[in-house]
Order: sequence, then C-alpha cells, then structure tokens
Amino acid sequence: MSFSHLSHLECGRCGAVHDSERPQNLCVTCGSPLLARYDLAAVRSALSPDDLARRSPDLWRYHELLPVRDPRAVTTLGEGMTPLLPMARYGERIGLPRLLMKDEGLIPTGSFKARGAAVGVSRAAELGVKRLAMPTNGNAGAAWSLYGARAGLTATIVMPVDAPEITRRECVASGTDLYLVDGLISDAGRIVGELVAASDGAVFDASTLKEPYRIEGKKTMGIEIAEQLGWRTPDVILYPTGGGVGLIGIHKALDELRQLGWISGPPPRLVAVQAEGCAPIVRAFERGERESRPWDGARTVAFGINVPKPLGDFLILQALAETSGTAVAVTDAELLAELREVATLEGAFVCPEGAAAFAAARKLRASGWIGADEQVVVLNTGAGLKYPGTVPVDAPVLPVDAHLT
Ligand SMILES: *Cc1c(COP(=O)(O)O)cnc(C)c1O
Ligand SMILES: [Zn+2]
Repeated sequence: MSFSHLSHLECGRCGAVHDSERPQNLCVTCGSPLLARYDLAAVRSALSPDDLARRSPDLWRYHELLPVRDPRAVTTLGEGMTPLLPMARYGERIGLPRLLMKDEGLIPTGSFKARGAAVGVSRAAELGVKRLAMPTNGNAGAAWSLYGARAGLTATIVMPVDAPEITRRECVASGTDLYLVDGLISDAGRIVGELVAASDGAVFDASTLKEPYRIEGKKTMGIEIAEQLGWRTPDVILYPTGGGVGLIGIHKALDELRQLGWISGPPPRLVAVQAEGCAPIVRAFERGERESRPWDGARTVAFGINVPKPLGDFLILQALAETSGTAVAVTDAELLAELREVATLEGAFVCPEGAAAFAAARKLRASGWIGADEQVVVLNTGAGLKYPGTVPVDAPVLPVDAHLT
C-alpha cells in the first residue's frame, strides 16, 4: 500500500492537469493556483477511520491524503492534533454555549503556518528543491525557515519591517537569509518574484498558493476537526482569512472526507473573518463578486490577515458560496477587546487574528446568522505569546519594601 495516494495536480481555475512529480508553481495555462488530487477510491479501500485511531497524534496520521511519497522524506517537529477546546464561559457570554476553539497556538513555531511548512518543505525537498524564497507577514517565513533548516534547505525570506518581531528572530536563529522591506507583503512578493526569475530555476518560489502543497498541510485542520468530533462536522467554522489557504484547505479536506464517505450531511458554513483595515474578501462577498480587488492602505494589528489581494480569492469566495457561508470584518478595537475577554473568561491567550474570529462569532450570533444551539468552531491560528505588544501593561512598580493589602 502507498504512503501517499497523490495522483496529479489540477488547476483550481481552468482544470488543466499538471505533473505532480516535479516542482510546480502556478498553472502554466492561466496562472492560477494548483490543487493536489488523490486517488480517493484507493484510499477508501485501503483505509478506514478506525485504522487512523491507532496512529501517532500528528498531521502525518493522514499521510495517504498528503503529497509526500516516501516516509523518509517527512520533515516533522511534531505538528498537528491541536486541542479542540470547549469555551463554555465565554460562549455563554456571547450566546453560543456550544462554542469550541481549535487552538493552533500549541504547535511548533507558534502558529498554524507550521502545518503548511511541514508538508510544503517535505515535498519540496523530496522533489529536489535545495533553496527556496518567499514573501511573508512573518509567521509563514518563520515556519518555513525552521522546517527548511530541519530538512537541510536554505531559505531567503522577505518580510515587512513592521511584521511581528519574534518572527524575524526565528528566521535569524535558523540561519535564513532575511530581508526587511519598508512596505507590504505585496512589495515583498515583487522582490521575491524577481529573485526567482533571475535564478534560472535555482531558487524555488514558495509564496502562498504559488506552490501546491502548503494548502495540503493546512487542510489537516479540517480533517482533525472532523476526527475530533467523531467524524461529524460542526455547523459553523470561523477562520481569520489573509491569503485564505487555511479556509480553502479546510473546504478541500471536508470535500475529500465526504467523497471517502467518512462524513455526511450538509457542510459546515465557512466564515472568512477579516479586519476592517484590510477586507478585500468581505467587500467582494458583499458585492457578489467572484474575485477581490486590491485593498488600498491595508493596515491592521492582526498582521497575519493583512493581505491586500489574495491570489486564491476566487477559491475563498467559492468555498463561502458552496457552504452557504459568509464574510465578516471587525475593527482592531473590537478584536483587541475580544482578545482580553477570551483570556479573562477562558485563560486562553489567543493571537489577534484568532481574536478577530471570536469577535466575528459574537457579531454573527447577535445578528442571528448563527443560532444559539449551533456548534461553532473558531480557529485560533497562533499563540498570543508571539505578539507581546498587543496588550499594554501599566502595572505599578513597587519599592522592594512595599506591602499590599
Ligand atoms: C497567516 C496567518 C493567518 C491567515 O492565514 P491564511 O490561511 O493565509 O488566510 C491567520 N492567522 C495567523 C496567525 C497567520 O499567521
Ligand atoms: Zn489554469
């Protein structure tokens, strides 16, 4: 039996088939992202959910549905199987007693970007890539640097100067070539694009959705949610959306599980959550458009979702349409207040992006879009510890001989 049942790559827009056995970027016909396809009939006869239950608690337990062919090519730091926690007190407060949080803060590198990096780096190395480059808002660059180091690859990372500082340090610690640009991720993207073009194939472009396997790592969040709920799905999943890879991935995973016959019933309604300072998907959704337009002056404290024009916008909007989902924007003030509310009521120090998804859950409950008895999953995509500046501290400094009463 094969370790992976990957069969080919297919363009997400025009359907053109591409060879999965060499490094690939965008569709050569239309320039859109490529999606990995599997021989699901073979998976279905080779594997059952019961077999999975005996495997190690990391995302490689789903290896038949992942692209790495040789188990020896797997680069892992133990990522995956993050907790799916009840949020009873906070849930009661916002009128959603069945609220759950999938906590991606508890994963190597401190954000769910580790999933995409583990699978993307493993497959790139398996296909012979030696050096990669990418623009990033911080967390992806940190994750690909660290996983790249473990796989023996070299990386060139370009990030905005105001990206979370810890992510720079993760890059430097792992020996990466790091550059800071006084601009947005889109500016970093142009610089990386030119480097790759000038390298004559020596540097692999690992930008978001410009290679097909990061999404495969991120889709495991969707498989895990189904497995953790006993091969059932929740009513609603809220996801803080930047490039949208996680949302597209969760949608893809649930489609694959449905085709395998492991889940049934209507799909969870997917919600793309953005910040009001950068909400191209929300604007396109509200206007009924199939693609987004670049957002001018993008700005939010939730740095991971500060993406002015996601390459996979049409796939995000399609996922929302196919699941009867929606798109919601929240202000920085709302998400920062929510971050403290979640920590105060639940003891969970979530990242600003995760806090945005909680704020959106509150709004959608208030508007009636989510019903009081529905089961709702919020993705907290990273650890609050990675963003020490989001909570100001004005604690009094005591003299050493002070007494408190
Ligand atoms: C990258 C990132 C996001 C957005 O993820 P996409 O899948 O690109 O939409 C959300 N939260 C955090 C913490 C991130 O690092
Ligand atoms: Zn195409």
